[in-house]
Amino acid sequence: MKTANIRNFAIIAHIDHGKSTLADRIMEQTETVSERELSAQLLDSMEVEQAHGVTVKSRSVRNFYHGDDGQEYEYNLIDTPGHVDFSYEVSKSLAATDGAILLVDATQGVQAQTIANLRLAVKHKLTIIPVINKIDSASADIAATEAQLRALRPEFKDTEILKISAKTGQNVHQVLEAIYQRIPAPAEGNDQALKALVFDSQYDPYQGIIAEIRLIAGQLQAGQKLLLMNENSTFTAQTVGIYRPNMQAVKTLKTGEVGYLVTGLKDINAIQVGETITDFEHPTQEALPNFQPPQSMVYAGLYPKEGTSYEALKQAISKLALNDAAFHYTPEQSEALDAGFRCGFLGIFHLQIIQERLHDEYNVEVLTTAPNATYHVYLKEPDARKEYLTITNPAKFPDFAKIDYVTESYVKAVITTPNDYLGAVMKLCEQHFGEMVDLDNQQELVTLTYKLPVSEIAYNFFNSLKSITHGYATLDTEFLDFELVDVVKIQIQINYAPVDALDILVPRQNAAQIAHKLVEKLKYTVPRRLYPMPVQAIVENKAIARVDVPPLRKNAAVNGEKRSISKKQQLLRRQSLNKRQAARSDIKLPQSVFDAVLNLD
Ligand code: GDP
Ligand code: MG
Repeated sequence: MKTANIRNFAIIAHIDHGKSTLADRIMEQTETVSERELSAQLLDSMEVEQAHGVTVKSRSVRNFYHGDDGQEYEYNLIDTPGHVDFSYEVSKSLAATDGAILLVDATQGVQAQTIANLRLAVKHKLTIIPVINKIDSASADIAATEAQLRALRPEFKDTEILKISAKTGQNVHQVLEAIYQRIPAPAEGNDQALKALVFDSQYDPYQGIIAEIRLIAGQLQAGQKLLLMNENSTFTAQTVGIYRPNMQAVKTLKTGEVGYLVTGLKDINAIQVGETITDFEHPTQEALPNFQPPQSMVYAGLYPKEGTSYEALKQAISKLALNDAAFHYTPEQSEALDAGFRCGFLGIFHLQIIQERLHDEYNVEVLTTAPNATYHVYLKEPDARKEYLTITNPAKFPDFAKIDYVTESYVKAVITTPNDYLGAVMKLCEQHFGEMVDLDNQQELVTLTYKLPVSEIAYNFFNSLKSITHGYATLDTEFLDFELVDVVKIQIQINYAPVDALDILVPRQNAAQIAHKLVEKLKYTVPRRLYPMPVQAIVENKAIARVDVPPLRKNAAVNGEKRSISKKQQLLRRQSLNKRQAARSDIKLPQSVFDAVLNLD
């Protein structure tokens, strides 16, 4: 295909506004797939097993369109994640496109994710085709939706805004025409050195890393010796091909095209998303500007639950990390939980998604410790080589006597919410020590910018935000800086044995309150024994809260009235000896114990 006839684009929309339905119509009207094949929405098929046992989660589909102008076009439709709360994930896909169809449901109007998505498309300097969907619906208010769109972006002209029904197919033809008419073709470059952007990748046990790429310049064929410019390593292209939407090998991928590259690389970490691939013999001069993989904001320990082996968890985690550059992991050892991983996430919602994917896609059950932020600890007698210690695991927080001061990561949080919830959202941010930076009113929707400590949003901030706005708000966070904080470590001892996996770092001013709530919660979640077990919260060597976990059934101490005092004491002493021995080894902590830390309000 001539570069001039290639178009690379995405569909962006608030959830349920019809993105998948429109993608289906496009594939159908370009005869990429038959109507029958569409029964299962193909672009959403995370779990489709392919013939070779590859779990294909392709981000792109190539379609061929015969334009009304008599020319044939190659339309590469690139899928974006359904939620925009990780703008980084959406950005990865948008980086491979030149335009976006902004879809708005006429029965709902502009929603928070419409604005968040539009913000990203504008940031990527994409050509935007505004489309009002569901015009067939009785409750469609086309005029009002159009007015909202124009208020949101005055650049949209009346004639530019298309009105369609993705369901019935009405006016979808106008969308197909607008794609080649409005979205620019990729820059020419077939005679230049190869320069390809990796915007997604997956792993296949037989074929190694399969990279999803867009060619910015040059051409690519199987057998070509290639160079990874960031990684600075070489390999040979095994196969190149396209998704239609199934994998289909092709001889050559050309400038502007989107497709896959089978690398044969078996090291899962060999290629990062955002990597630039070039020809080894004739390399391009400059790598593409690298994606800034977002820094992990929130850390938690992931440990194999019963029935899952450490090896299985390790395999699953490393594969997940392959196409999620925001997810980081390192092995760690816990006294209480044994071998596991300290993992970094963008936020609690990201953690939830990873947990779900581990379960759904890899059949792996994990125990997750309470999440925490990143701290920089400055010691009174610092190491000559390191100004501060970076702490992502509370168990590694140094002894308080050695600490000079501590700083914690802060984020810039951009929240878009319907006007009705403005008061509630502001209150939520203030409760979490948020400092307002900006407030931007767009008719029915408001965009708020706050500066917030990560530890405050690490727990249930996101869920609270979704709940008070009935799911209508979006949250986008970006690392800001480290600021001075006064934190202490709460250590939990169950039956006199410290449980390192339960260590948490909290603001000093809240420590006593949190410690009391925590031990109260643990009272009912720690598995019971035949004897009462003390649960203590220790801060800076002092026990500041204590409860006893009630025994499984009445024991000697309770029945003791009938016995002599001395006998009761004898019994107690014997029991407490037993329990001291038992403590370290055999208390199996269920997930509910760790969840208790999360739900202290
Ligand atoms: P997505 O979340 O943006 O991918 O939205 P879907 O494509 O899954 O559509 C969400 C719902 O809206 C589904 O029940 C669709 O059948 C429905 N829908 C999509 N487009 C239209 C349309 O043009 N008209 C009507 N009436 N319903 C539509
Ligand atoms: Mg969908």
